[in-house]
Amino acid sequence: MTTPIVQEQVSLQAYNTLAVPVKTRWFIEANTHQDIVFALAFVREQQCPLLVLGGGSNVVLVDDIAGLTLHVNTRGVSIENETDTTVLLSVAAGENWHDTVMYCVEQSWCGVENLALIPGSVGAAPIQNIGAYGVELTQCFSYLEAIEISTGKVQRFGRDACQFAYRDSVFKQQAKDQYVITRVVLALSKQPQWHIHYPALQERLAAIEASELSSAVIAQAVIDIRRSKLPDPVDIPNAGSFFKNPIVSAECYRDIKRQYPHIIAYAQDTQPPTYKLAAGWLLDQAGWKGTDVKGVAMHKDQALVLTNPHRLSGADLLAFVAQVKADIHQKYTLELEVEPRIYRA
Ligand code: FAD
Ligand code: NAP
Repeated sequence: MTTPIVQEQVSLQAYNTLAVPVKTRWFIEANTHQDIVFALAFVREQQCPLLVLGGGSNVVLVDDIAGLTLHVNTRGVSIENETDTTVLLSVAAGENWHDTVMYCVEQSWCGVENLALIPGSVGAAPIQNIGAYGVELTQCFSYLEAIEISTGKVQRFGRDACQFAYRDSVFKQQAKDQYVITRVVLALSKQPQWHIHYPALQERLAAIEASELSSAVIAQAVIDIRRSKLPDPVDIPNAGSFFKNPIVSAECYRDIKRQYPHIIAYAQDTQPPTYKLAAGWLLDQAGWKGTDVKGVAMHKDQALVLTNPHRLSGADLLAFVAQVKADIHQKYTLELEVEPRIYRA
């Protein structure tokens, strides 16, 4: 058995899509399951902190990492079970999420097409129950396997155990920093089950006959919409939507709507009733779209996307974020919550 190289003092700038220039004391690139096992033994032996990274598209790295950064790059896709109508697809955590979506689309399997072009790895997808265009991972998820960091034990998490919620899961809550996800099993359908009610998608597909719909057509529509709206992190460093859409009570929504009658909000299927406010709208109305403060800016076309064109530090980004949050609080009496995970020393 070969062991992976433990590199020292490695820059993580190329490993996070905000291109923040931090260093990590140790770095292991895990290409196999055994590499992950080795890395976790290393962490236990050194008693050092661990940062698990996939594509680095949902993190804000503020300080240098004092311990080990484990870059999960494991590969492998296999059919675990297949019937006339369904497929269970086992995918290694290091596989690219979008490539996996396109693989499913090529096989004419349905379930993940609305989630095309989301950056990052398969292993990170359950962490925030990735979602877009009216679909969340939970809808096409069977189970995952993960290694418990403290013991090295492999554990299986079904959908209930993952406690999926809106951009949330047990891995952001009680099980935070306790597991490395090693593979995810997707539950796909061979029969059409389209989700095309999301307004932007519906509009894009309006000219397409129902008989012409396929997972490939839907994935392409999603790709086209995303390319027209979202900056590519390769060109302009960003982490996608930087703030979560606030979920507020009916009373709070009523108060804000009285002051801002045109606010964009969506009634949630909850008891008591709650409303999801479009954070992009709040930021746009408050004048943040395209606003640049000391080199950090909200994108000119997408008020929700914080960009770091000059590849400044995490502290610079957070100084900007503090200004945005204070302004939004002052204007709407709302606390904006940052979506990417912030890593401080
Ligand atoms: P990373 O940033 O590497 O990690 C994110 C978190 O997951 C970290 O806390 C990390 O420690 C943990 N983690 C990563 N891999 C593992 C693992 N194997 N085991 C345990 N923990 C792990 N998100 C959406 O939900 N919907 C979108 O539509 C969407 N669009 C985006 C568009 C752009 C342009 C960008 C830049 C981001 C977007 N995102 C979106 C956010 C992001 O792509 C997703 O959250 C994605 O799942 C992150 O994957 P990653 O591999 O880059 O995770
Ligand atoms: P959009 O279409 O301009 O819509 C703005 C917001 O309104 C979205 O955040 C969306 O919530 C909400 N929304 C729109 N129609 C809705 C409906 N019918 N029911 C409930 N909520 C609705 O959004 P966008 O910024 O271009 O993004 C498009 C999709 O890609 C969204 O689903 C978004 O979440 C996803 N995306 C996510 C990220 C990320 O980093 N997390 C980055 C880019 C895009 P939801 O966000 O809950 O869908």
